[in-house]
Amino acid sequence: MSNTDFALAIEDLTVSFDGFKAIDALTLYIDKNELRVIIGPNGAGKTTLLDLICGKTKAASGSIKFKNTELTKMAEFQRVRLGIGRKFQTPSIYENLSVFQNLEVSFPKGRSVMGALAFKCTDDVMERVRSVAQDINLTDKLDTEAGLLSHGQKQWLEIGMLLMQDPELLLLDEPIAGMSARERELTAELLQRICKNRSVIVIEHDMNFVKQIAHKVTVMHQGKILAEGSMDKVQNDPKVIDVYLGH
Ligand code: ADP
Ligand code: MG
Repeated sequence: MSNTDFALAIEDLTVSFDGFKAIDALTLYIDKNELRVIIGPNGAGKTTLLDLICGKTKAASGSIKFKNTELTKMAEFQRVRLGIGRKFQTPSIYENLSVFQNLEVSFPKGRSVMGALAFKCTDDVMERVRSVAQDINLTDKLDTEAGLLSHGQKQWLEIGMLLMQDPELLLLDEPIAGMSARERELTAELLQRICKNRSVIVIEHDMNFVKQIAHKVTVMHQGKILAEGSMDKVQNDPKVIDVYLGH
């Protein structure tokens, strides 16, 4: 496989904070339309890796190519424009707006010449809101004020706001934190739907959840990749049991 076949090709990536290498010569490839789960102990560098991909943190050295375009020197907004969507651990939604309005304001305006010139795209926006609402289980809540949603529904809404931009790569940091058991199940289903035509990287702790969604799992430890492969393979890897699953 050449590098151009990957959605994301990360090579030899390093970043240090006060001399401490949070990401240490890390190499990772994500396929187009792949759902990849990243696990690992606290402080392994998982969140930092997403920060580097979305541009919140700048790499010290190494390469991050998205659809064969080098990202490391690009600003955060440029990476969003290229099709990278990042969800942080705490949802940032407009509590006073309805679910519908939250989705509507997230539709990218003026990204294309058509978008900037034509207001006939109201129908397109409506269509997108409906389809995203279905994906995130909030069709019945479109008129509800976002502040009244459950914690889990707020998490879904924020994923929906990212989906409005139709990102080709979606980065989710611990999306089920604080969710009920039922909401976790529904989130597993949601992820299967939304990774159909994009690549998704999910960081997660909950091993039951990981088992439900995982195709390929990457285990991080001390800024490096400790193991990679199927859930079965990774779970039975003595190195992984030692630093992570054994506890
Ligand atoms: P994880 O998400 O796997 O728990 P993080 O990526 O949040 O790990 O953190 C990896 C390491 O880098 C930790 O030791 C953390 O304290 C450190 N770190 C992360 N971000 C910063 C920062 N902005 N400044 C200094 N140290 C940081
Ligand atoms: Mg983290």
